[in-house]
Amino acid sequence: METSSKTCFKCGMRKVLFEFYRHAGMADGYLNKCKECAKADVRERYYGPANATIKSYDAARAKTEKGKERRKNYAQSPNGKEVMARYRRTPACRKVVAKAVRAWQRRHPEAWRAARAAAQSIRRASQLSATPDWLTPEQRREMKAFYSEAAERTRKTGVPHEVDHIVPLQGKGVRGLHVPWNLQVITAKDNLKKGNK
Ligand SMILES: [Zn+2]
Repeated sequence: METSSKTCFKCGMRKVLFEFYRHAGMADGYLNKCKECAKADVRERYYGPANATIKSYDAARAKTEKGKERRKNYAQSPNGKEVMARYRRTPACRKVVAKAVRAWQRRHPEAWRAARAAAQSIRRASQLSATPDWLTPEQRREMKAFYSEAAERTRKTGVPHEVDHIVPLQGKGVRGLHVPWNLQVITAKDNLKKGNK
């Protein structure tokens, strides 16, 4: 059949229509260059010397006062904020942040210890206020068992385990209670993941 194939104007090869991208603007509904050539063109446009010039021009422009101002304005716009929020959730960004935090901790060991102590005391206080006074001795024992369980699993597997509040005590909106049915033993890694959500 004649309409089932055509010649690519770039590579000059005759190929079946499946090898061409659809394009509504073309008479037969397909581009005149084949998929392979179309892809090569995109690659060339992005990685080729012409784009390198544009990219270095853009980079230089971003460093000017006007460029900095533009970036700042964009960062504060709803769109910019969303893009940044999305970027902060990426593993690459988290790695950079974690590294910066560790460096800061090494440079300021005292401040780091104080900050950690403050966070711990806030956690303890919220735990205390989230503990209902109607808990029975049996229920309190049950809760202690979660902590021994976490310690035991850590010892047995070598993987750090922690007691986690299923509904966080300091959650936004709904606040969890420090009660047996709100506790679970999970790995420290999973606990960290939970906190980052
Ligand atoms: Zn081609």
